[in-house]
Amino acid sequence: MNPAIVKNRILQTAPAVAVIVGAALAADYALNVLFLRRPEHFTPLTTLAIATIVATPLAYWWTSQRLRVEQMRDDLSASVRAKQKAIEGAEEALAKYREAERLYRLLGDNLTDHVALWSPKGERLYSSPSIQRITGYSAEEFMALPPSAMVSPADFKRVQGIIRGLTPGGPPVSADYECFRKDGSTIWLESSYSRLGDGSNILLVTSRDITERKRLELDIAKALELAEAASAAKSDFLANMTHELRTPLTAIIGFSEVLRRSRGLNKTAARQVGHILDASHTLLSVVNDVLDFSRLEAGGLELDPGPFDPAAMASSCAALVEERATAKGIQVVIRTGKALQPMNLDGPRLSQVLLNFLSNAVKFTARGAITVALSQVVESEGDGRWALLRGEVIDTGIGISPDNREAIFDRFSQADAAVSRRFGGTGLGLAISRRIIERMDGKIGVDSVEGEGSTFWFEVRGPLAELPALESEAMSPLGAEAGVRLLLVEDNAVNRELIHAMLEPFGVEVETANDGVAGVEAMRQGHYDLVLMDVQMPVMDGLTATRKIRAMEGARGAATPIVAMTANVLPEQITNCLAAGMDDHLGKPINPTRLLEMVARWSGRTHGA
Ligand code: ADP
Repeated sequence: MNPAIVKNRILQTAPAVAVIVGAALAADYALNVLFLRRPEHFTPLTTLAIATIVATPLAYWWTSQRLRVEQMRDDLSASVRAKQKAIEGAEEALAKYREAERLYRLLGDNLTDHVALWSPKGERLYSSPSIQRITGYSAEEFMALPPSAMVSPADFKRVQGIIRGLTPGGPPVSADYECFRKDGSTIWLESSYSRLGDGSNILLVTSRDITERKRLELDIAKALELAEAASAAKSDFLANMTHELRTPLTAIIGFSEVLRRSRGLNKTAARQVGHILDASHTLLSVVNDVLDFSRLEAGGLELDPGPFDPAAMASSCAALVEERATAKGIQVVIRTGKALQPMNLDGPRLSQVLLNFLSNAVKFTARGAITVALSQVVESEGDGRWALLRGEVIDTGIGISPDNREAIFDRFSQADAAVSRRFGGTGLGLAISRRIIERMDGKIGVDSVEGEGSTFWFEVRGPLAELPALESEAMSPLGAEAGVRLLLVEDNAVNRELIHAMLEPFGVEVETANDGVAGVEAMRQGHYDLVLMDVQMPVMDGLTATRKIRAMEGARGAATPIVAMTANVLPEQITNCLAAGMDDHLGKPINPTRLLEMVARWSGRTHGA
């Protein structure tokens, strides 16, 4: 036994031994001295020795027993306490487990999406009850269905392929597919497939009903198709409309020009012809604006940058409005910075903006002056040199109220109804100008004081450029047309008469053909310096006729320059003319000066030269 325990027991035994010995001595004394009155029989040493010898083992045994019992009691109560604690822990864990299970069940029962677990062998392990809401099958029925029963055959193969390609713990892969409900109706599901990466290799599939979304997608696709068809119809309509409008305008403008130039008119008749001409030019600019704007709206504005001279732009735009301004007693002043350098920008489009500002300035100004101001700030960018060009048209006209200054740049927007009644217009000019400038990444705006005048301005940046040397034929003097033999292929009798009236005074010999077939035949028979070819004609159109002429082997006509003369003025229509073998394009209504320039430019040349 452990010596420490023995020592402890001996120490605990000693008091008991002392009590027993003390009691034996007291009893010996009381019996012999006090009770029997024989003090000689009182032997304390003997009593002490006997009591010690007898009491010590007894006391030791008794103490040992007591200590063992106490030890056993302590051990027992410690073990009871430990068991109690373990029971409490187990109860707590059980409660937590029950709560977690309740929550999982709640989740599974109330999921709107469907969750399914499949064993690696392809057996169903779990299906959330939401399957019933989605497919009409209860979870139990679903568990018994073969995997292919609900999915359309084409989609089933694809889904199988996706499942085969999954890797444990890898990213989920999604698929949309068509699915049959218990009642036979069709729905669309979107499922996400993944293999668990915990070693179980279980397949987890979460599915969602996306029938509504699919329906919307189909509706949107259908709506888009309809919108595209409507937009194509609108473009066709526009192209037809502008063609139809330009054709009669050709006759009105052309014959008014012929009349105006003739010397036989008295003053009143000449003034009235001038009015017809002004009105038809206004009508033509409305047609042009509408066509231009719808092309811009459709995002079809292609810029065509090239070297252009800003100073020349200012003077040619000013010259175009000068007559109208002078008639109102208004002076047009050009103010350009000293050394405006040529730039690489879409010059014609910038001129369109400047001309629009100028036309408005003339329209809305009754007295005073109109100033065209151009300035340029040269800056370096990268390798080349760039510049910021600012154009301003300053007038002393009616001005624009602050409320209207933003809105006038919107389409069909005019400052006020009374003004638009008085001055006319479509409200498209500034909207077109804004789109052109924005397409060039520039800025456009107006500063104005009501009743005092307005300053319309734009700012565009572009690289500086060199102007190409002028071509010699561009300088060809009018009058070079005399003696030219021209074939006019045109189905419209009024237009045939118009071209005769416009060209014959200049000594041009005009022969006519009424459609493409007659035109090709005329080319086969005769010799001409130039062909003016209409495009839309009955029997054979101008493009086909041109191709046939170009294909005529050995004939001299095959190399004759052909200029399209048509109301088809859209860029793609012009491209089609050139692709068919024509050399140039003259838009209807015909401008007499441009017609003469065209005749002068092309007569004496050969096709493609
Ligand atoms: P339109 O001139 O055909 O009506 P615009 O888009 O060119 O179309 O102009 C829109 C409107 O802006 C005009 O109707 C007019 O109210 C206002 N406006 C344009 N230029 C001026 C100007 N120089 N002075 C006063 N008002 C102007």
